[in-house]
Amino acid sequence: MNSIERDVIIIGAGPAGSICASYLAKAGVDVLLLDKDYFPRDKACGDMITENVANHVAKLEAADKLDKMSVFVNQMLFVSNSGNEALIPFECYGTRRRDFDKLMVETAISWGAEFRPGCRVTGLIRERGSICGVTVTSGGIESEIRCKIVIGADGAFSLAAKEAGLMKEAPASMSIGMSAYFEGARFDRNIAIGQYSAYGAVFFDEHVSPGYIWVLPSGDGGVLRGHCNVGMIVDYADGSRPGHEDLEQRFRQWMASSTRAASLLGDAKQISPWRRGKLTYLTQDMEKTANGLILIGDAAAVMQPLRGDGLSAAADSARAAADTAWEALKDKDFSAEFLAKTYRGNPIHMDPAALRDRLKHRRLIRETLFDPASVDRAIENIRKDLSIGQELLRD
Ligand SMILES: Cc1cc2nc3c(=O)[nH]c(=O)nc-3n(C[C@H](O)[C@H](O)[C@H](O)COP(=O)(O)OP(=O)(O)OC[C@H]3O[C@@H](n4cnc5c(N)ncnc54)[C@H](O)[C@@H]3O)c2cc1C
Repeated sequence: MNSIERDVIIIGAGPAGSICASYLAKAGVDVLLLDKDYFPRDKACGDMITENVANHVAKLEAADKLDKMSVFVNQMLFVSNSGNEALIPFECYGTRRRDFDKLMVETAISWGAEFRPGCRVTGLIRERGSICGVTVTSGGIESEIRCKIVIGADGAFSLAAKEAGLMKEAPASMSIGMSAYFEGARFDRNIAIGQYSAYGAVFFDEHVSPGYIWVLPSGDGGVLRGHCNVGMIVDYADGSRPGHEDLEQRFRQWMASSTRAASLLGDAKQISPWRRGKLTYLTQDMEKTANGLILIGDAAAVMQPLRGDGLSAAADSARAAADTAWEALKDKDFSAEFLAKTYRGNPIHMDPAALRDRLKHRRLIRETLFDPASVDRAIENIRKDLSIGQELLRD
């Protein structure tokens, strides 16, 4: 076992970890970014990159690269259980996660962060009640790396959160999703004009209720080649932990029963295996700091339930944690109190009271957004509003 002293160690080079590493390295902080995987690697995701994420990428001077690897989606077709449809202006990028995550890691390296792939963190080191490093295994060799602050960015099943005692009981209700790539989807050319004007679709259907299915143009050729990300999220309210088969069976039932699904995906070919993941929708108002530790991204369960854009919350918390770590290094105060106060005080971070409010939103969403009848009414109303709007425009 050897021991090296660093300023900051970040566990996990997903979007939260690598964006945090970029902000820290940009500010001149000595930062070591560790991931058990080698990049590029794939991950269950809808590939939807929202404007807020793109803004972080622009601040880190990688906007051009993101633009080149993405399809620009500017409309979303919402389809209800009974076939009601509304096409709504909705801007996002469709960017394959393997490309996006690799870009973010490369960006961190370009700002001066050191990145070690294939390096699994196996535990946290504590001294006098404070976390001061990690134990890692890489290529079969175990070692210790010491630091002033550890940032836990290791995703939904965070070892950092568990080891620090910050993760409470798993919540009764849990959202699980899966995604895969398809080629040959038939996007309606009247709506999707080309690579830079594409639409995605979101289906609310009884077979996936409470939940939804999406089809989002993403990666190579986008709408032109019918290359898309297809996936679904189901909310298991009863605490059951379904297997792959349950999700895949629901997907097949939807495909067999929806005429829209048949017209969009009937001739399409699945070109990658299903990948599955858990959504850490504000699972609880857990503490996000301990002595010497800050949690970010899915490890901190910061995803906002209404929008489901976990990457946006990951990027915001990454920025807030980078600012916090910088302050802590300056003041040489790594206590949980100092970190919590600075992290929470950061305008882009959410404090526990706000989180509790959002938990109420989550219940509201379960009762409305995930209820096929309410979705049907909402889409019908939107459709009417849009047609009135169009008539007014014509007049
Ligand atoms: C099906 C599905 C669809 C989704 N769709 C979208 C979407 O379209 N848009 C959106 O914004 N969000 C989406 N999300 C949410 C989004 O994927 C997450 O919020 C986001 O990945 C969080 O980023 P992160 O960096 O916190 O964690 P992760 O992306 O999970 O990264 C964690 C990293 O930590 C590494 N790691 C884990 N343990 C260790 C360890 N012990 N040692 C070293 N490294 C470790 C992992 O290898 C990984 O690289 C979706 C989620 C799911 C499940």
